[in-house]
Amino acid sequence: MPVIYRCGSCGKTLFVFRSVGQDSFGVPTPDELFSKIGSRCPGCGKAFSKPRLDRVKVMGRA
Ligand SMILES: [Zn+2]
Repeated sequence: MPVIYRCGSCGKTLFVFRSVGQDSFGVPTPDELFSKIGSRCPGCGKAFSKPRLDRVKVMGRA
């Protein structure tokens, strides 16, 4: 069941965490996510507020 972080502004998929085979640290925290993708949406350039991912929704899909 992947966890998908999306930009709440443009809906771009920012990061997908797959539960198997990606890493062993579990779902990245917002800080870890920022370190991976930066503090702005690569799609629309919207700056994410820190430390909360106000603009990013976490969704799990079965
Ligand atoms: Zn965006």
